Amino acid sequence: MIRVTVLGSGTSHGVPAIGCDCDVCRSTDPRDKRTRPSILIEIVPAPEAPAHMTTRLASAVRAILIDTSTDLRTQALANNVRRIDAILFTHTHADHVFGIDDVRRFNQMQKAAIPCFADPGTLASLHRMFTYIFEPPKQVGGGLPQLSNFPIAGAFSLGGVEIVPIPLFHGVLPVLGFRLGSFAYLTDCNRIPDQSFALLDGVKTLIIDALRRRPHPTHFSVGEAAAVAARLGVERAYFTHISHDLGHAATTAALPAGVELAYDGLVIEVAE
Ligand SMILES: [Zn+2]
Ligand SMILES: [Zn+2]
Ligand SMILES: [Zn+2]
Repeated sequence: MIRVTVLGSGTSHGVPAIGCDCDVCRSTDPRDKRTRPSILIEIVPAPEAPAHMTTRLASAVRAILIDTSTDLRTQALANNVRRIDAILFTHTHADHVFGIDDVRRFNQMQKAAIPCFADPGTLASLHRMFTYIFEPPKQVGGGLPQLSNFPIAGAFSLGGVEIVPIPLFHGVLPVLGFRLGSFAYLTDCNRIPDQSFALLDGVKTLIIDALRRRPHPTHFSVGEAAAVAARLGVERAYFTHISHDLGHAATTAALPAGVELAYDGLVIEVAE
């Protein structure tokens, strides 16, 4: 079983937006408080697994973070995240990477570098954006994140679970979504190539970008995301990367059965 925790369900500005007095930004519904987009995936060994299997999984990867959002520290505290065994990066827009320094705390607690997986373009971009991490200065005050980088060149396995990278388009920018078993996380996209639809065949639980109702040049709208969920025939779809245009309760009430807005702290359990 994998357990998915939505650490952040908001768009790059977060909700509430600074200085905004709209109904959603002023809402008292906690589901309308959205930090920047990220999820945590925990691999939970089946209780009936043989003892040697449980031990093997326990000693290997069991907590996978997708993106180091601007709000990583806040999210880790809010969700009591105490361990990260691997990080997968979708792309390097600021809302997805600017919490990277908060990885230091996990390095301290785990006394190890954390493996990071991204496509070669994203790794090169991370290197350019964070030269202080990858070309460290001679004197380091508060410490540096310890990351070991692995370029993604196809499906790979972590903690006994296959991870299938899903090529997507975020406007003109190629980005990655990720599939684990019957679950897929497709943030920051507004086009899915046919070959990637084939990779998503059989997905039952989907988290997908749905910024707002109106079309956007780089993000799916609510209608477009719902159409993707329908085309894939998923059982459950959760929308993420949500702007302040969408109030949780009213928007979810108007969505088809099995489709709802994600929210910060949402936990989804998925059978493998
Ligand atoms: Zn984003
Ligand atoms: Zn607002
Ligand atoms: Zn983006």
